[in-house]
Amino acid sequence: MSEYSGGAQFPDTLVHPMNASNIKKLIPIAFCAAAFCFPVVYGQEYSVGSYGDFPANVYFLNHIHSDHNNDFGTLPSFSPTHLKNDIDYYLSTLNAKGLFVTTDHNNDYAFDDLLKNGSVGKAGDRIIAVRSAEWGDRTHLSLIGLKVPHWNMLDRHSDYSKAPQVQAAEGAAEIRIINHPAAPGYKWPWQTWENAEAVEVWSDNFEFASHTNSKAIGLWQEALASGRRYTAVGGADFHMNAPGKDKWKIMLFPANIVFAGDNTPEKVFEAIRGGRVSLRLRPASPKVFIRAIQSGTVYEMGANAPVSGMVNLEVILDQRDCEREDDYFILIYTSASARIPALKIPVRHSALSTAAFMLPVQGRDFVRAEVWRMHSERITALSNPVYFNY
Ligand SMILES: [Zn+2]
Ligand SMILES: [Zn+2]
Repeated sequence: MSEYSGGAQFPDTLVHPMNASNIKKLIPIAFCAAAFCFPVVYGQEYSVGSYGDFPANVYFLNHIHSDHNNDFGTLPSFSPTHLKNDIDYYLSTLNAKGLFVTTDHNNDYAFDDLLKNGSVGKAGDRIIAVRSAEWGDRTHLSLIGLKVPHWNMLDRHSDYSKAPQVQAAEGAAEIRIINHPAAPGYKWPWQTWENAEAVEVWSDNFEFASHTNSKAIGLWQEALASGRRYTAVGGADFHMNAPGKDKWKIMLFPANIVFAGDNTPEKVFEAIRGGRVSLRLRPASPKVFIRAIQSGTVYEMGANAPVSGMVNLEVILDQRDCEREDDYFILIYTSASARIPALKIPVRHSALSTAAFMLPVQGRDFVRAEVWRMHSERITALSNPVYFNY
């Protein structure tokens, strides 16, 4: 990497897997970087730009298991219609719309249940369901929007890309998601992700999963740095009953904020293919977005910007419907390194905060943001990249 004025740069060994002790090493450097180089503007009204529907309020609620799941546990109280009603209520509290997918293992009976109960939803409704399943054996792939006559009769081929039902998903009406690629027993190196559209870089929101999740993010980072392009998504992948009255809400996270304009499958799939997705790990998490600007042209998350030289970057943190949280710091990733443009963004519930900085771009590269909670040193939100010269 070439140097640029005042930016902190870190050796690759510090970049990933990012964990608490690495963060502690980075913080003193970042104070310097934040103090001298990176203005952070709090609470200003943010211009809409080309996102179109900012603040984005369409959710893609992904990888939800119902009581039709058949692996190592069942969820007796979570019938598909129960899930749908909970999601509908929760999105009403956020004044948001959503698309949700039940991805039970090797079956799509949950969608049939929803159909039978008149609960699938249609354009104009707050919540819409799409037929989906989680398919596979040693690797798990979510096939979303695909009608397969008898899931349970299919060979769970280890070379998924050659399976006919996966090849059938090439059309615009379907999405393929590589699930939990670093989970114990389900290892799936990025070199074999082939033609999937997306990868689940964060699955479930229990803290004990974070190690596997940080490895999944590391795989995605490697794939991006090698020139491949996959949209990162979160998936709830909830397999057990959680204690507490809010368990139904926890089941919906990590949630994906999509710049889709509406919650129809067509619009949401188009946004996923285009990389216009930001992950929000918990109900308490902020939303994070990133954009690049050069010569008056704005390149939003997912865009492929044909630029070189200094590029202005903006990271936008939207805390307006966080339930509670922490102070935050932001990590910026490119193909080569992590940087911290703004160390600390305090909790301001009414705020849209913008961290602005500059980045030198030469050739193929990307830039993406992660938001970490200051006190617990845990990741809480992440953006998809803006791509350069892909
Ligand atoms: Zn799975
Ligand atoms: Zn699952």
